[in-house]
Amino acid sequence: MDHTKINLIVRLQHIDNLIESIMSLQKGLPEEIAALEEDLAFTARQIEARKKIAEEHQKLRERLNGAIHDCKEKIKSFKEKQTLARNNKEYDALSKQIEYEEKEIASSEIQLQDISHAEHHAQELQKKGRDLISENRYDEISEEMMPDDVLHQQLEDLSKQANQKKEELDSIVIETVEEVTQLRKTLGTQREVVAREAKRLLDKYDHLKSGTLQNAVVKLDRHACSGCNTRVPTNRHTLIVQGGFYVCESCGRIVVHERLFDEAAAEKA
Ligand SMILES: [Zn+2]
Repeated sequence: MDHTKINLIVRLQHIDNLIESIMSLQKGLPEEIAALEEDLAFTARQIEARKKIAEEHQKLRERLNGAIHDCKEKIKSFKEKQTLARNNKEYDALSKQIEYEEKEIASSEIQLQDISHAEHHAQELQKKGRDLISENRYDEISEEMMPDDVLHQQLEDLSKQANQKKEELDSIVIETVEEVTQLRKTLGTQREVVAREAKRLLDKYDHLKSGTLQNAVVKLDRHACSGCNTRVPTNRHTLIVQGGFYVCESCGRIVVHERLFDEAAAEKA
């Protein structure tokens, strides 16, 4: 068996591992930031929705108060006209108009009351939320129970946390960007070599990595595949020790002797 081919693919995995270990310095920060930003967006949407309701209430209130004012003006003028009415028919007609305007006022007032009730209800819910918070009963608080000020504080805190994590991540990225760029270049070159010299192994490597596996080539560790811990049959050990490879029956990874990884590391240095 041509063992140089396997050495080439081990070196590819070795470079991949180096990049991965640098990326792991980011300690899950990208995921943490994404989660914080999701919470941030959710909180912002809640605040925005409340603001919209408040604005709608305000607009409706202004419109209703305007309508009431107009009705009252009309009633005033109808009443003045009544004093000048020439007969009962004219007087009664004006009375009907006044009655109509009074009904309009009553209807507007009911709508104004509805708005006040809705606002009062919202405030009551928030008050309940505040009580639950003071008792640490957070899991019982519904979205609408969250007090306005707590919501704003939450928005501020989340945005502060997200920014801190981003700064942390940025500094890690800046520290490692040169090394990662260099390694990616090396990885590209190595791929070209493997593609030329051991195309079938590279296809297998890419196929394994296209799934959920991070590492396609692994070391034999205590007679087992170190990718999935499945034992490697004894009759394959000699081949592996000699520098060959074994395809794990369980996970499909390429299992090699750890010496090959040491050699790949030495080659890089
Ligand atoms: Zn395995």
